[in-house]
Amino acid sequence: MRFTELFFYTLREDPVEAEIASHRLMLRAGMIRRLASGVYAFLPLGFRVFKKVEKVVREEMNRAGAQELIMPVLQPLELWEESGRLDAYVAEKILFQVKDRQERRYALGPTHEEVITDIARARIRSWRDMPVNLYQIQVKFRDEIRPRFGLLRAKEFCMKDAYSFDADEEGLERSYRAMYDAYSRIFTRCGLKFRAVEADTGAIGGDVSHEFMATADAGEDVLVECGGCGYAANLERAEAGAPDKDPAEMLEMERLETPGAKTIEEVTAFLGVTPQRLVKTLLYLAGGRPVAALIRGDHTLNETKLKRLLREESLMPADAGTIERLTGAPVGFAGPAGLAENTPVVSDITVAAMRNFITGGNRRDLHVGNVNPGRDFRADRTGDIRFATEGDKCPRCGGRHRFMRGIEVGQIFKLGVKYSAKMGLEYTDAAGETRLVVMGCYGIGVSRTVAAAVEQNNDGDGIIWTPELAPYLVDIIPVSMKDAAQREAAERAYAELWEAGIEAIMDDRDERPGVKFKDADLIGFPLKIVIGKALADGKVELQARRTGEKTLVPASETVRRVREAAGGLQ
Ligand code: ATP
Ligand code: MG
Repeated sequence: MRFTELFFYTLREDPVEAEIASHRLMLRAGMIRRLASGVYAFLPLGFRVFKKVEKVVREEMNRAGAQELIMPVLQPLELWEESGRLDAYVAEKILFQVKDRQERRYALGPTHEEVITDIARARIRSWRDMPVNLYQIQVKFRDEIRPRFGLLRAKEFCMKDAYSFDADEEGLERSYRAMYDAYSRIFTRCGLKFRAVEADTGAIGGDVSHEFMATADAGEDVLVECGGCGYAANLERAEAGAPDKDPAEMLEMERLETPGAKTIEEVTAFLGVTPQRLVKTLLYLAGGRPVAALIRGDHTLNETKLKRLLREESLMPADAGTIERLTGAPVGFAGPAGLAENTPVVSDITVAAMRNFITGGNRRDLHVGNVNPGRDFRADRTGDIRFATEGDKCPRCGGRHRFMRGIEVGQIFKLGVKYSAKMGLEYTDAAGETRLVVMGCYGIGVSRTVAAAVEQNNDGDGIIWTPELAPYLVDIIPVSMKDAAQREAAERAYAELWEAGIEAIMDDRDERPGVKFKDADLIGFPLKIVIGKALADGKVELQARRTGEKTLVPASETVRRVREAAGGLQ
């Protein structure tokens, strides 16, 4: 490709709507173009990168034994009713819906569990028909609340989604492991720094899941990693350990008048204590029934963990009226001692290790000090119900938890029989018994991965592509197009590089060299061949984008030196 023929442009100014590097740089380099909020086109240079990620994904999926197919974007809503997911997706307003002329209703596919289960039930009959793993690389639609950061959170984006079908849990474990390994290879080949972390399953369902997180400060997710044993999970999931039991003697409970002080800030300021001395009593309705949850004053309750502990689908903070009824006091003075009868108390494990703490006194303007579990109240359940915090003790090895930010580029789930049970996907086992097919599902954000790669690889001048993802490996830059010798040398290098199977682009524009260098750096080609004055001595300059290193090499050795340099960049 020659720049004079390439459909491209670069922008000198930062687009105002772009808050993070990948979004800004891909817009400026003319790789993507915004059509509407969360809706982007890939322009030719960007599309080449997209195709490279797609190629890596496809190769590794095929290598793992998965088979590619393509499913419709238009999904009849009846399928979503059948799986029982329609209400949740409608409630979250995430589903794009359309109607045809006969008023038949469809979703624009946000994910394809229903469609693949429908396809699978046309074929899977016996245990001999499994294992099988089917995947597609296709556009998805989600009406995101806050589309932003360009390709990272779009309304229309490209996903690779795979679905495995097995006869039993052991089969699923093998399929899941194969995908876990394939994902690790995919993101390694894409040159990403990433972590596979334990995750919750959310609306997709199932019970085991991992997210693949590209580490980046601009990431919307927080991941927790143990410096000791390597345990890693997303913040929603991460286990939080308990401190050692406080050995202090139990002191006599005391009344603390706290006029008007309700919040943790107000109470700690008034009493002159740290939030670590306080225990918050949070009242919820779990499955419609009241429950009190206790966590230390500086901690945050994790509703997902509480739901899981209580085995309840629905959990809502109690309304003011309920709180007043349960505590006999206005909101802000709840405590575990003296709550209304039949209000189960769930204690965080950290609280269970504490002694002599302060809680609400279940009366207006009253708190109580030296409260102790066991003596002053009984917890009905004790468990890990809070968000992990940085520096927490790892419950597995006693090491310390550290936090990082990440971009979720992929997620894998053990679905189990959630969809096969709802949609009647059954098979006959070797003994002739009818059983439910055991499923897994596995997604990669292909377009998001492109942006994640930019987020990890850029500097003040622009993008720095790794060789595997670069739109072209080498940019050949004749310093002056007016110089016939330079022009010819550029043509020769271009022809030889392509001959050798190396993707080269030539900047044959009649522009100042500064303009060409700026564009090359902004777009992020890993290597440049600059053909200028040294050509008089038979030399050209090879430049590495990442290090800025420049080497004069004999023009006749261009191919070999480019190949060597590219090898060093891997
Ligand atoms: P997120 O938590 O970021 O909203 P998700 O967990 O809802 O993502 P999945 O259903 O797990 O997403 O989809 C599989 C993959 O598709 C994700 O890991 C991510 O890489 C990609 N993806 C999801 N939503 C978007 C989006 N709005 N824009 C771009 N990529 C997305
Ligand atoms: Mg996900």
